Amino acid sequence: MDRREFSKKLIVAGMGIGAGAATAGATTVASPSESYYEEPARRLPVRQFDVVIAGGGTAGVVAAIAAARQGAKTALIEVKGYPGGTVTEGGTALHSFYNLWKAFPGCKRRQVVRGIPQEIIDRLLAVGGTSGHAEMSKGFAYDSVCTAIDTELYKLVVFEMLVESGVFVCVNTLLAGAVKDGSRLHGVIAESRSGREAFYGKAFVDCTAYGDLAAYAGADFTEPNDYAVVNSIGVGNVSMEKLHDYLVKHDALTQRAEGIRDGEDGQIVRLQGSWARLPKEFSEEARKIGLSLVTTTVHDNYWMFIKLNFKMPVSPTNRDEVAKAELELRKRQYRAIQLFREFVPGCARAFIARTSPKLCIRRGRVIRCDYDVTHEDVIEGRHFSDDVMAYGFHDSAPRLQIKDGGTYGIPYRALRVAGVENLLAAGMMITSDHRAHMSTRNTVSCMGQGQASGTAAAMCAARKCGTRDLRYSDLRKSLIAAGVYFEG
Ligand SMILES: Cc1cc2nc3c(=O)[nH]c(=O)nc-3n(C[C@H](O)[C@H](O)[C@H](O)COP(=O)(O)OP(=O)(O)OC[C@H]3O[C@@H](n4cnc5c(N)ncnc54)[C@H](O)[C@@H]3O)c2cc1C
Repeated sequence: MDRREFSKKLIVAGMGIGAGAATAGATTVASPSESYYEEPARRLPVRQFDVVIAGGGTAGVVAAIAAARQGAKTALIEVKGYPGGTVTEGGTALHSFYNLWKAFPGCKRRQVVRGIPQEIIDRLLAVGGTSGHAEMSKGFAYDSVCTAIDTELYKLVVFEMLVESGVFVCVNTLLAGAVKDGSRLHGVIAESRSGREAFYGKAFVDCTAYGDLAAYAGADFTEPNDYAVVNSIGVGNVSMEKLHDYLVKHDALTQRAEGIRDGEDGQIVRLQGSWARLPKEFSEEARKIGLSLVTTTVHDNYWMFIKLNFKMPVSPTNRDEVAKAELELRKRQYRAIQLFREFVPGCARAFIARTSPKLCIRRGRVIRCDYDVTHEDVIEGRHFSDDVMAYGFHDSAPRLQIKDGGTYGIPYRALRVAGVENLLAAGMMITSDHRAHMSTRNTVSCMGQGQASGTAAAMCAARKCGTRDLRYSDLRKSLIAAGVYFEG
C-alpha cells in the first residue's frame, strides 16, 4: 500500500493546529458495511518537547537516551508497559558488535558498534543479564560473537537508563496520529488511559518498527511482506548441555558459543542445529510449525528464545490477519513444547516460561528516506561521506558477507524521511532491498541508528533547523564524543 491508498483509508479526526492545517490520528480500518461515523473534533491538551521519539524499542531506547544526553527535552512514546522492543522478544541474541573477523583469517578484530549500545551491555553485565560478547567456537562463518541477553533484565536496565538520562518515558501510550503543516511535523497524538494528548516537538524520530509515525505524517512507504512473523518463547526445565549432546550425536550441531551463564564463564550460551540431520519424525513436524533450531541463554535450565515462524498471506499491518496469525503461533508454541518433550533429552518437563506479548515482525512498512542502502553498498563494504555508524554483520552469512570481513557505513541521509522536514527514521523500517535489510535490520545496527538519529534530532531542535540543514561535520563530532566508532 502506498501513501495515497493509506490516506484514502484515513478517517481524519479533525485535530488541528493554528488555523486547522493539520492532519491527525485516524483508523485504517475500512468499514465492512460502508457506513461511517464522523468523529467530532476535540480539544487536546498539548505538551511541549524538543524531541519526540515514537516507539521505545531496540532503536528508540537508544535514540531517546542520545537525544536527552544532548540536552534536549525528550519524550518517548511506547505502547507496551516497558521499553526494549523486539530485541527482548523476537530473536536470539544481538548481532553483532564486531566485524566478522573469525570468518576472514588475517582480518583485524575490532568492535565496530560502541557508544550507548555497549553501555547497555555493560549495565547488563553488572546485573548478570548478559553472556557478554561470547565468541563463537563453532559456526563462526555466520557471526564472530553472540551477545545473549536476559530479556527481562534488558527491559529494566534500559528503563532505568532512560529515566536517568532525563527522558519523559510514556509507556502504555499509543502513538495515534500526527499533527503536520505542509512538510513540517508539529506534533504527534498520543493515546493512553490519561487521555488523548498532543505532544509537540521540534524534531521527531520514528522508531516504531512499523513506521507508524512516518505513515501518519504522509511519508511514502511500501509493505513488501517479505518475511515470516514470529512469536518466540522462553522454555524452562531444559538443558543446553543435553541439547548440545543430542545435536552432536546426530552430527547436526552447526553453531556454538560459550560465555557467562548464571555468573559462570565458559558455559554454552548459544546453539544452532540443522534439521536435515535430525530424525525425520522430529524435523518434519518441526518444519510444519516453523520451529527454528537455534537458541541462546544466560541462565541454567532455560532457553531464552525459541522461534516459531508463520508466513502471513498479507502484510502484518492487517489487524484481522494478524489475529489469525496470533492464534496460529500460540498453537505452534504448544506443539513445539510437545516435540521437545518427545524428542530432546532433558526436556521431559519443559514448559513455556515466556511468550512475546504480540507477534514480532521482521518488517512492516519500508519508509522512503533520502537514501536507500543497497545490496551492493552492504556487501562491497561501502562507506559514505555522511556515515553515522559502521556495521559488519550479515544475517545471510556465509552466503552473503561484507567484503573481506570488514564494515559498511549507514549514511545520515538513509535516516531522513523523504518529504518531511523534521522527521528521522531508525530501525527495521529503513532499507527496501531484502538482501541489504538482512544486515541493516539487525539489533545492533538498529541501536546504532538510534544513537545517530536521536543525536541528530536533538541537534536540529537546538539549532531550530530541519534535518537536511544540520551540518554533518557537527553531527559526526557529537557522535564521536559519545563513543561512536567510524571506519572508512
Ligand atoms: C523473530 C525475530 C528474530 C530476530 N532475530 C535476531 C537476532 O537473532 N539477532 C539480531 O541482531 N536481530 C534479530 N532480529 C532483528 C531485530 O531484532 C529487529 O530488526 C530489531 O530489534 C528492530 O528494532 P526496531 O527498533 O526497528 O523495532 P522494535 O525493537 O520492534 O521497536 C519498536 C517499538 O515501537 C513500539 N511501537 C510500535 N508502534 C507503536 C505505536 N503506534 N505507538 C507506540 N509504540 C509503538 C513497539 O511496541 C516497540 O517497542 C530478529 C527479529 C525478529 C522479529
